[in-house]
Amino acid sequence: MNVDTIAVIGAGLMGRGIAHAAATGGYRTLLHDVSAEALDRALKQVVADLDEGVGRGKLASADAEAARKRLAAEADLDRAAAAADFVIEAVPEEMDLKLRVFARLDERCREAAVLATNTSSLSVTEIAAVTRRPARVVGMHFFNPVPKMKLVEVVRGLDSAPEAIDATVEVARRMGKETVVVRESPGFITSRVNAMIGNEAFFMLEEGVASARDIDKALKLGLNHPMGPFELVDLVGLDTRLSVLQFLHQTLGEKYRPAPLLVQHVKAGRLGRKVGRGVYDYPGKD
Ligand code: NAD
Repeated sequence: MNVDTIAVIGAGLMGRGIAHAAATGGYRTLLHDVSAEALDRALKQVVADLDEGVGRGKLASADAEAARKRLAAEADLDRAAAAADFVIEAVPEEMDLKLRVFARLDERCREAAVLATNTSSLSVTEIAAVTRRPARVVGMHFFNPVPKMKLVEVVRGLDSAPEAIDATVEVARRMGKETVVVRESPGFITSRVNAMIGNEAFFMLEEGVASARDIDKALKLGLNHPMGPFELVDLVGLDTRLSVLQFLHQTLGEKYRPAPLLVQHVKAGRLGRKVGRGVYDYPGKD
């Protein structure tokens, strides 16, 4: 399948990073958002990120300039959809909203276009079912910050066709990403393993196996993790981690039951760096 034009729907944290990767990957890229302000902010941020890439010697300035020229804002969803060979949706994580967006995309996009969702947890199969092209709907799970993170989890829904998966792997490759293909399943690979490690760390802390600092130190120096589990959960947000674990517990069973100490931290308002205190305190940040 030949992909020239990618439409990215939703220009928030993830959408703007995906647009950055698509434009540097050589695609004509149309970025759409319902909010004119978000769209404007996103375009400015992509330009700033491209400049930063040049500054850090990661990108030649001619390539950054070419990428900037390939990227355009499109305030009209129907026009973005009609022009695209491949669509990547990055609107907020709400099923009703995603279903509305996909029904509209399905109406407006060419028959051959592949529709990808960047959902972190929702069912690709359920999203595909509102379209008349479930074989051409896939998951494409990027990581934040998109321009720097290497992996994309390509998610196969019940009806996703091999050609649509192949096209998605190829788009990710041209964006400079590595891929893994996963069958739709709660938490895919990364969130499931990560939630499990993070939860186990809370159980160990609760049992008094070691201090938080030493558990972090052990995983960094002994297992070569770039961050310890408590440093990481403070960055991600303890409330976000708890809701992932609750979802895995509901869908995959008992071994994902959230550790009581994690639940207590959330009840105490210890939500992580964003509020100035999580497992650790961040003085001056609240
Ligand atoms: P965000 O809130 O930063 O951005 C969402 C954007 O979508 C906003 O700019 C909003 O104005 C826009 N939007 C809302 N309704 C829209 C509509 N109907 N049409 C077009 N645009 C619309 O959210 P985000 O963090 O970028 O997350 C987007 C998706 O990516 C979610 O599904 C999320 O689960 C997933 N995701 C997030 C991360 C992360 O680390 N934040 C990582 C992987 C995947």
